[in-house]
Amino acid sequence: MSDRLPGFSTLAVHAGAQPDPTTGARATPIYQTTSFVFNDADHAASLFGLQVFGNIYTRIGNPTNAVLEERVAALEGGTAALAVASGHAAQVVVLQQLLQPGDEFIAARKLYGGSINQFTHAFKSFGWNVVWADSDDIASFERAITPRTKAIFIESIANPGGSITDIEAISTVARKAGVPLIVDNTLASPYLIRPIDHGADIVVHSLTKFLGGHGNSLGGIIVDAGTFDWSASGKYPMLSEPRPEYHGIRLQETFGNFAFAIACRVLGLRDLGPALSPFNAFMILTGIETLPLRMQKHCDNAKAVAEFLAGHPAVASVSYAGLASDKYNQLARKYAPKGAGAVFTFSLKGGYDAGVSLVSKLQLFSHLANVGDTRSLVIHPASTTHSQLDDAAKVKSGAGPDVVRLSIGIEDKEDLIADLEQALGA
Ligand SMILES: *Cc1c(COP(=O)(O)O)cnc(C)c1O
Repeated sequence: MSDRLPGFSTLAVHAGAQPDPTTGARATPIYQTTSFVFNDADHAASLFGLQVFGNIYTRIGNPTNAVLEERVAALEGGTAALAVASGHAAQVVVLQQLLQPGDEFIAARKLYGGSINQFTHAFKSFGWNVVWADSDDIASFERAITPRTKAIFIESIANPGGSITDIEAISTVARKAGVPLIVDNTLASPYLIRPIDHGADIVVHSLTKFLGGHGNSLGGIIVDAGTFDWSASGKYPMLSEPRPEYHGIRLQETFGNFAFAIACRVLGLRDLGPALSPFNAFMILTGIETLPLRMQKHCDNAKAVAEFLAGHPAVASVSYAGLASDKYNQLARKYAPKGAGAVFTFSLKGGYDAGVSLVSKLQLFSHLANVGDTRSLVIHPASTTHSQLDDAAKVKSGAGPDVVRLSIGIEDKEDLIADLEQALGA
């Protein structure tokens, strides 16, 4: 073996996987089993006491899922990862380790519509209070800090407008406040942006999108950067204080720089239960093998489509950070030099009605609520994903009535442009 460190594309194919030791199977097998036989009573007791690592029950861990966890941790540059059933499950499990009832976290207002709902309503019922900030105004994060703030949550490339977040600037605010920075890296994928390189302490993903990549399997993942000192302030008792359910061990003291991933598994996933099916882990692993190829094509197509739209007379504006004229282009050059992603919005001079009409005339684009599929997708957020927000909140989150969101696939760009041309012109 050479001592060269493997590159990103090599890791996307190989990280975490070995030929199966009993059968020689080269693709990672689907370990479709709920539970695993113990060697003997002592082995069982030490597994349950966290003295040794191993398989117990698929709600807590599974060998197929473990390959996925190691692979995404390698691609993101983290110390460890935990796969869960969906992107939303990842968000619940992360915040459950950090917040007690009555605590607060700060979130950028430009977010996936489902996350806005989850934070505003479901999390409120747990006593976790979201305080909104504006990622275009870094000082708004500083102003939002209180003694009860336990975390800051942002998206690297933000839904739905494809804006680029200044991760380093917000990481500086988080460091100063002594709270971890959580970055939802779903729209970028680690191929375009690795948030840990820019100061993120925790990365979350909806694997459902670009990592799985084929619109066929839900999944989520949490990556621990291993950078945060959970015991410095006394603010994170789940990690720093003795755990009664594990003979009084302290997770950070015992597990060091992957304690957060362990907490998510043995306190979060074990008790809340959103386990990922090993079948879905297999599908997502297969998707990840081609992530670098797909992501580059997604980005190249998106740029061509954005340029076409920017020159069309029915289009009022295009919000794509890959365009030289875009207000986020400087940040895109810094954080995502290979491409500004494939999800972006544009607005139509004809307003709400034109948006609804365009969506109904497109033929190659599928009208549905997803992003990050091989297929090109379209949605009118104001009448769907963001319809529950009032008008002011719609505009603030980048989903005004005239806005259409595209997720550009890996088809031939000429066909995508022809479809948009007929739908806009007719
Ligand atoms: C889809 C999505 C989520 C939620 O993920 P699910 O897998 O649908 O639960 C979270 N964040 C972003 C940016 C998303 O696109």
